[in-house]
Amino acid sequence: MLIVQKYGGSSVASLDRIRSAARRAVALARQGVQVVLVVSAQGDTTDELIAAAADLAPSPREMDAYVSTGEQLSAGLMAMAIQAQGYPAVSLTGWQAGIRTDGVHGNARIMALEGDRLRRELAAGRIAVVAGFQGLGPDGDVTTLGRGGSDTTAVALAAFLNADACQIFTDVDGVYDRDPRRFPDARRFDRISYDRMLALIREGAQVLHDRSVELARDHGLTVEVLSSFTGAPGTIVGP
Ligand code: ASP
Ligand code: MG
Repeated sequence: MLIVQKYGGSSVASLDRIRSAARRAVALARQGVQVVLVVSAQGDTTDELIAAAADLAPSPREMDAYVSTGEQLSAGLMAMAIQAQGYPAVSLTGWQAGIRTDGVHGNARIMALEGDRLRRELAAGRIAVVAGFQGLGPDGDVTTLGRGGSDTTAVALAAFLNADACQIFTDVDGVYDRDPRRFPDARRFDRISYDRMLALIREGAQVLHDRSVELARDHGLTVEVLSSFTGAPGTIVGP
């Protein structure tokens, strides 16, 4: 059994939250499940990095090299938090995990996964913590997948590794017909189709990266969106 779990920025915003995600992963791994964690940058890190460089009018190539570091910090912290709980873990950048993309800086598309390293780490009994949102382009340069792209990292890894489940942990307990943080009477879906989900994203929903849903649809992979705070069942995005 192999499970991919992705933790968004708010779900890794503090060391306490990282520890709680690590605990969940370790509990699964101790049951014999192979676990791949995909992490976003902590809290508002990506916005802060972009703002800090804005005055430099940075080139797209350098911007990707720079802004992708946020996810690497999270991956390192998560791997250390897992190790601190007595379980072996390894952090991997997108390129170490074998994620190959096209060359469109700032909005690259995942083209392939060279997953030998990842499979080796899992076979050796480690939890693999992969930095989301990043890959390696055709010319060997760092690329990023577009804002919110860690979701797409997770779905791509789940598809390529033939995972039994792909769980996207976030700060809401599922997908709603409107933003539940702004509309208290928003309705939550237990299940939602890929196409309805894509329509919600086009209307402005930010709960999932659009390409992650397209990729899940193309591979017939179901994705669960759930709260990292409660761990209660969330919304299944599927056929
Ligand atoms: N950290 C990136 C962003 O804020 C990627 C992600 O969170 O999925 O857009
Ligand atoms: Mg997101």
